[in-house]
Amino acid sequence: MTQDNPFEVARKQLDECAKIMNLDPASHAILRAPMREIHVSLPVRMDDGSVKVFQGFRVQYNDARGPTKGGIRFHPAETIDTVRALAAWMTWKCALLDLPLGGGKGGVICNPKEMSPGELERLSRAYIRAIYQFIGPDKDVPAPDVYTTPQIMAWMMDEYSKIAGRNQFGVITGKPLSLGGSAGRGDATARGGIYTLREAAKELGIDLKKATVAIQGYGNAGYYAACLAQSILGCKVVAVSDSKGGIFAQEGLDPEAVHKHKTETGSVVNFPNSKQISNEDILELDVDILIPAALENVITAKNAANIKAKIVAELANGPTTPEADEILYRKGVHVIPDFLCNAGGVTVSYFEMVQNFYMYYWDEKDVHERLDRKITAAYHSVLNASKKYDINMRQAAYVVAVGRVVEAMKLRGWVA
Ligand code: NAD
Repeated sequence: MTQDNPFEVARKQLDECAKIMNLDPASHAILRAPMREIHVSLPVRMDDGSVKVFQGFRVQYNDARGPTKGGIRFHPAETIDTVRALAAWMTWKCALLDLPLGGGKGGVICNPKEMSPGELERLSRAYIRAIYQFIGPDKDVPAPDVYTTPQIMAWMMDEYSKIAGRNQFGVITGKPLSLGGSAGRGDATARGGIYTLREAAKELGIDLKKATVAIQGYGNAGYYAACLAQSILGCKVVAVSDSKGGIFAQEGLDPEAVHKHKTETGSVVNFPNSKQISNEDILELDVDILIPAALENVITAKNAANIKAKIVAELANGPTTPEADEILYRKGVHVIPDFLCNAGGVTVSYFEMVQNFYMYYWDEKDVHERLDRKITAAYHSVLNASKKYDINMRQAAYVVAVGRVVEAMKLRGWVA
């Protein structure tokens, strides 16, 4: 298996889960391949008058539980296998959170950093025109992902609505608040992770008021996680990092002040009264909770034995390799796996769809309470499966999620 082909990794994870569950061969075969793939060529007039043709994809992995859902990435290195893998993971994530949705993902090979706003708008509209007949509020609902923004979602919603001849806010989520977006979407990913941490601490008997936290990555996920770990859980955030390096302060960091420093200087590094540490060191600190919130494959067979945290809360996608997973499990480290820990984002996206259907919008407090109920229930279903089958939390998350998709396929009569 090539480690760098994400779809092969996704299939391997499914195969392992199939073994644990003793999954029937027909269900396994259905779940190993996407239900539908759309490949499109998108001619776009550039600002200099030339026409450039971009390649785009939309993968609808499985819709047994409801319309497919997943983001659209604009990236120069996008590949169909990355989109397939992400669509598979969205299927498991939506099922795990018990959302009435399947999984999908989209992508366009382009470099948004080299495109003008006008070119980006024409590309966004061309993508929607090309996939129009395959998406819709009850078919497939895209959202933002890498290098796509609320503004891009607004253009896409507008293009879809124009073709449909009526406003169709529910065709896409992650829209601006003034155009059918949901309150509470900004910090939803971190907030969901913080709620799962609260439950994990209860399970392990950890007093969060005395707990220390280290966070790798200080973007959307990491920054909000730092603020909420302090304000909701009462933890002390002692270390954070970004791509330029990390900082440590035993007496605790002020997350807002660090954010201001990063905004002003471009990095958390050199924050006053802190010690410089590396991105490798931050993972091995003697803290109670470690939150990887940056990149994939950072906890590996090389450093897993040195991890001292009692809980690893994976806000990033894929931060732990399968070899490291095994080592952490044997050491008794409690891992909250990525597609549980970072599912707050898609959960609030689902709330956005519901509010669009209703034409009635909830306040932030409502959104927080509903998110808490959903993700807390998901955490406990994973914990129970992990105890019942004596498997690690990631395997347990797979067993719960795949089990729900298979149940839907059986009830629909797709498999016997
Ligand atoms: P972001 O771009 O806002 O922030 C990424 C952060 O990681 C930045 O602070 C960057 O400096 C840092 N970083 C980059 N390279 C690094 C390195 N080598 N070492 C340490 N830090 C490094 O991205 P984000 O939205 O916060 O996403 C972070 C992770 O969370 C990703 O794995 C993403 O897939 C996952 N995630 C995010 C969301 C969401 O709603 N934002 C939802 C689900 C999953």
